[in-house]
Amino acid sequence: MAGEAQSDCLFCKIVAGEVPATIVRESETTVAFRDINPQAPTHVLVIPKAHYPDAASLAAGAPEIAADVLREAGQVAADEKVDGSGYRVVFNTGSGAGQTVWHAHAHVLGGRGLNWPPG
Ligand code: 5GP
Repeated sequence: MAGEAQSDCLFCKIVAGEVPATIVRESETTVAFRDINPQAPTHVLVIPKAHYPDAASLAAGAPEIAADVLREAGQVAADEKVDGSGYRVVFNTGSGAGQTVWHAHAHVLGGRGLNWPPG
């Protein structure tokens, strides 16, 4: 059922505390933790605790939690003090766009110049 934890999902395991992660923020509906392979000085992933495979299915199935993810992404940027210089919130969606973990997640990237268009 939509939103239910998946036993084979890495990020569901992080939510459950079964896989360690450096958690920087947590809310009732979200967890934010440092990416294991950072692409910028600040690289934090914000995920819903509920399992949705990507951002679009999260927004369709639980729009209030999608809003929580975006709000928490902004809070991460403020906590990391990258909100003044600028930061990027990215949802890779689909393997062609680089998605490798099928549990919705926002990348919050900052602390260096970020080129446009992205690669
Ligand atoms: P995607 O490629 O799906 O957009 O993003 C998945 C992200 O999860 C990648 O940036 C990758 O480095 C990160 N990641 C993969 N495995 C782990 C892990 O076990 N712990 C943490 N903290 N991040 C992970």
